Amino acid sequence: MRLSNLLFNSLKESPKEAKIISHQLMLRSSMIRQHTSGIYTWLPLGYKVLKNIENIIRHNQNKIGCNEMLMSTIQSSELWKKSGRYTDYGKEMLRITDRHENELLYGPTNEEVITDLFSDYVNSYKALPKYLYHIQWKFRDEIRPRFGVMRGREFLMKDAYSFDLTEEGAFETYKIFFRSYLKTFLDLGLQPIPVKAATGAIGGDLSHEFQILASTGESELAYDSKLVDSNLFEKSYEEITSMYSASDEMIDKSKSDVIVGRGIEVGHIFNFGIKYTKPLECYVLNKDGKRITPHMGSYGIGVSRLTAAIIEAFHDERGIKWPINIAPFRINIVTQSNFDLNEDIKNIYNILTSKYNNISLDDRDLSMGRKIKDSELIGIPWTLIIGNNYKEKGQVEVIRRSDGDKVFLSKQEIENFEFEQYTP
Ligand code: ATP
Ligand code: MG
Repeated sequence: MRLSNLLFNSLKESPKEAKIISHQLMLRSSMIRQHTSGIYTWLPLGYKVLKNIENIIRHNQNKIGCNEMLMSTIQSSELWKKSGRYTDYGKEMLRITDRHENELLYGPTNEEVITDLFSDYVNSYKALPKYLYHIQWKFRDEIRPRFGVMRGREFLMKDAYSFDLTEEGAFETYKIFFRSYLKTFLDLGLQPIPVKAATGAIGGDLSHEFQILASTGESELAYDSKLVDSNLFEKSYEEITSMYSASDEMIDKSKSDVIVGRGIEVGHIFNFGIKYTKPLECYVLNKDGKRITPHMGSYGIGVSRLTAAIIEAFHDERGIKWPINIAPFRINIVTQSNFDLNEDIKNIYNILTSKYNNISLDDRDLSMGRKIKDSELIGIPWTLIIGNNYKEKGQVEVIRRSDGDKVFLSKQEIENFEFEQYTP
């Protein structure tokens, strides 16, 4: 893509309202724009990143046999009255009345809707277990929306729901999601810490949050240092959960040999048995034709919050440092707009475009220095500078954003160079 076509305005200074680095960088690099309190427009760069994150999450959900679908954002209040949560959920729920005086709401979560839907489509034990998910906007009228998309009122969530015939089956499912979550966050380049968590409005008695360590995080954590391990995925659920970890009100203040820190909650999983299936009269028939109430779990990931969490993890004083599989562009070609090298530049751009699908060419009428700064601010993993060095010696300067490493390559060498994954 030519950056002259992109809706993008880099800001040198951080807007005053942005208190944490991820919010500052998202505003400075035109990723998001606040529409009104806690509600954001995703601008082209931010939207590309959001889609990339979504796809990594989707890939991992599909791998465990979870069905992707899409439920509506607006829900009827009926089911919530049946489950008892219509009053319990309180002021965080955005309630809407339509022209026929029907009580509707903007979905903050989907346990009721999915249970009702499942009842309609599944009636035999033979179909269990079933895993369903969607990636959909949620609304929670947070009392204090802050830190940009970190705590919004409208936010994107991946929420999955599982149905099992027995409590034992539901626990096996919980372990499958637990491990799949570890893999998802590792694929996003993050180091997740699974911590024992309170279940809040969702309910149940078994629950874990997945936290990313960050001094700006809103959650308090206490955990065994052995949990900070890039090989965590190699360990079993039992091994991982035998190590101490807890968040917020679950923390045992008398523990001494643990690390206490702060984190960003990027995922939360729950096992809550028949909390929704029972009041919503959902059942399947077992092999003797007897009605059995299925056991459920639900599993959330904060997709929009992750954009900010990843920036908190990967940035420096110059800007964002995106992991390559999340970056809005893989390679940015920076050239002088008045340079007499157009054929060569086009050629290099075409070679790279045929190999990778997200290459940008900064053809804007700005100074080289400004363009290089923007490339660093946006966090593009590789910047190719076609400037005086190319004119004089036929060399393209290749800079890696993760560590600032520089090499000079000929056009021929560019063709064979692997602009690949690396750990920022
Ligand atoms: P929190 O404790 O941060 O308020 P929660 O426990 O209420 O979150 P869950 O119901 O567990 O949230 O939702 C699943 C995931 O959705 C969370 O782990 C988080 O990543 C994300 N999420 C929840 N609320 C928000 C919000 N207001 N803005 C952005 N993401 C959110
Ligand atoms: Mg939570």
